[in-house]
Amino acid sequence: MNLQEYKKAVELLNLYSRHYYVLDDPITTDEVYDKLYHEVVEFEEKNSENILKNSPTQRVGDVVSSGFTKVPHLSRMWSLEDVFDSEGLQKWLTKTYKLDENISFYCEPKFDGASLNLVYENGELSQGITRGDGTVGELITQNVKTIKSVPLIIEHKERIEIRGEVVIFKDEFEKINEARLEEGEAVFANPRNAAAGSLRQLDSSITASRNLVFLPYGVGENQLKHKLLSEKMEYIYSLGFRKPPHRSTCQGYEEIEAIYEEMNRDRDSYPMMLDGMVIKVNEIASQIDMGYTVKNPRFSVAYKFPAVEKITTVKEIILQVGRTGAVTPVAIVEPTDIDGVVVERATLHNFDEIDRKDIRLNDKVIILRSGDVIPKIIKVLTHERDGSEVEYKRPTCCPVCNSELLDEGVLLKCQNLTCEARVINSIYYFASKPCLNIDGLGTKIVEALFNSGLVKSVVDLFDLTLEKLLKLEGFKEKKSQNLLDSLENAKGCDYWRFINSLGIEHVGEVASKTLSENFGSSFIDATKEKIIACDGIGEEMAESVLEFVRVNRDTILKLQDILQPLEPIKKEEAKDNPFKDKTAVLTGTMSESRGVIKEMLEALGAKVSGSVSKKTDFLIYGEDAGSKYDKAISLGVECLTEKEMREKID
Ligand code: NAD
Repeated sequence: MNLQEYKKAVELLNLYSRHYYVLDDPITTDEVYDKLYHEVVEFEEKNSENILKNSPTQRVGDVVSSGFTKVPHLSRMWSLEDVFDSEGLQKWLTKTYKLDENISFYCEPKFDGASLNLVYENGELSQGITRGDGTVGELITQNVKTIKSVPLIIEHKERIEIRGEVVIFKDEFEKINEARLEEGEAVFANPRNAAAGSLRQLDSSITASRNLVFLPYGVGENQLKHKLLSEKMEYIYSLGFRKPPHRSTCQGYEEIEAIYEEMNRDRDSYPMMLDGMVIKVNEIASQIDMGYTVKNPRFSVAYKFPAVEKITTVKEIILQVGRTGAVTPVAIVEPTDIDGVVVERATLHNFDEIDRKDIRLNDKVIILRSGDVIPKIIKVLTHERDGSEVEYKRPTCCPVCNSELLDEGVLLKCQNLTCEARVINSIYYFASKPCLNIDGLGTKIVEALFNSGLVKSVVDLFDLTLEKLLKLEGFKEKKSQNLLDSLENAKGCDYWRFINSLGIEHVGEVASKTLSENFGSSFIDATKEKIIACDGIGEEMAESVLEFVRVNRDTILKLQDILQPLEPIKKEEAKDNPFKDKTAVLTGTMSESRGVIKEMLEALGAKVSGSVSKKTDFLIYGEDAGSKYDKAISLGVECLTEKEMREKID
């Protein structure tokens, strides 16, 4: 990097920072920012006489915006030096041990949100201030008072500054974005921006509606006498603050690496976004001796997790036709490595999303891959357009059978019941686990059977014979016989599986069970009133069932004849017990599989649901319980260990 490039890089970093900190709408990824930032650091290390005053290395990033009163912090707020790999960590440790070799470490997650400084005087919250430029921040006390995890009164009378991060939980973030979409507002790119934006609202009622969470990570001015940071933090939590989902003290490189590995592996199961792990010297006296650089504490470092957001280019938009005929667009992107996985596709959900985000072919975009979720485009970098981008035109014909598509606005639908994609996907669905659970009917085999002409509908599956199968390419005797055996085994299935396998729109596993329990095989003659009267079944579902039965009555009867599904046994009313008519959620590893425990609770008359909500009566947890446990705690749901659950039953 030469001087001119350095100046340009500083300018660009400041532009990125403005979008990130002031507008809460980043125009690049953290990875790109960090890379350029470190190039600037390298240049400045060799050319200290040329360091620009406005270089991002010389100040804490946030900017103080007008609209709020500016107030000074009692003691300065800082940023953090970051490292990205073992080598970086080792360098930091060598540097730190040189300052003091008798030290241990305190590790906790690096929460990806917005910094906040809370001032308590006489045990009362007197001010809430953003980090700002580290010296002066924005006074946002009214907004802060709406955050439920910020205690307004604490049992500590001396003046104290408590510092922490304000975050939005991931599920809350999804809800906020859904609501914004419905209102036609721009969505937030990630929970960090949503948290920062929500905190700095001029209208406190908006902040209040966002369910922000405050997680303390340290103190500013204080008279506390603890010798260790870990003790100090325990004291802070005891005042009524929320504990982090993980915290440990440790010695040296290997232990730090092990904690980091574990936290990185589990990062998706935390309810909030983490972008790394923070390592701090645990001895307060050593911290004081080490002091600060112009921007960062010397006793602390952020060990960043691999990036989950990357910049790539949209090459093509392809269309997938599902079993219901719904056509889903999928973006094909320039292959990009995200945390060890090469991403080539990103979901686009529906055609509205393409219009709303104005995604064009050749656009540079930021994609996010986190956990098992299919990667998605979170931002189009419109400022990078060079005229080569091509607008995407909604299709009018099915990409598979070429028949005209029904345009329902958000959804496009192929209405041709014999469309190859629809048939193949419905056979695949018919055989899937929550339906008839028929082994040996993956997409490739279904495609081969369909293309051979032997199977044009699910009914045809049951006309297959060894002789017919052996004529097909790739079907050897063993494979063919296994498939025939699996088909035979599907006979005599539970009735709800039979209903589920029909693929009635809006009717999934839970509704199939309800229909089966209430009607059994007479569900095809049930009236709309009777269907709606069932627990959990609404008008839309009822109409869907009626319409499906109207069109497919003959096929249903034929399949029923072949499969002979078992009529449900009328359940005996469960005896009175603490779980009867209650809703329970299971999480974590238990002594038996969760399926067995689910059945046991259902036999006691409980409803076992997959997610925690206000309606949940009990969360029953095993080892390594993750985000469901946190959510249950935050909603005040009664949490029981497996043992406590069994004791209640006995
Ligand atoms: P930072 O956010 O990386 O780290 C410091 C902050 O971490 C602290 O101020 C604190 O608020 C927070 N933090 C969270 N958990 C903590 C814990 N347990 N202990 C201590 N602090 C904790 O630093 P920064 O200076 O605010 O921002 C720089 C980072 O912001 C860069 O690394 C970059 O990734 C990102 N950034 C991105 C863009 C962009 O355009 N994408 C622009 C500017 C900055």
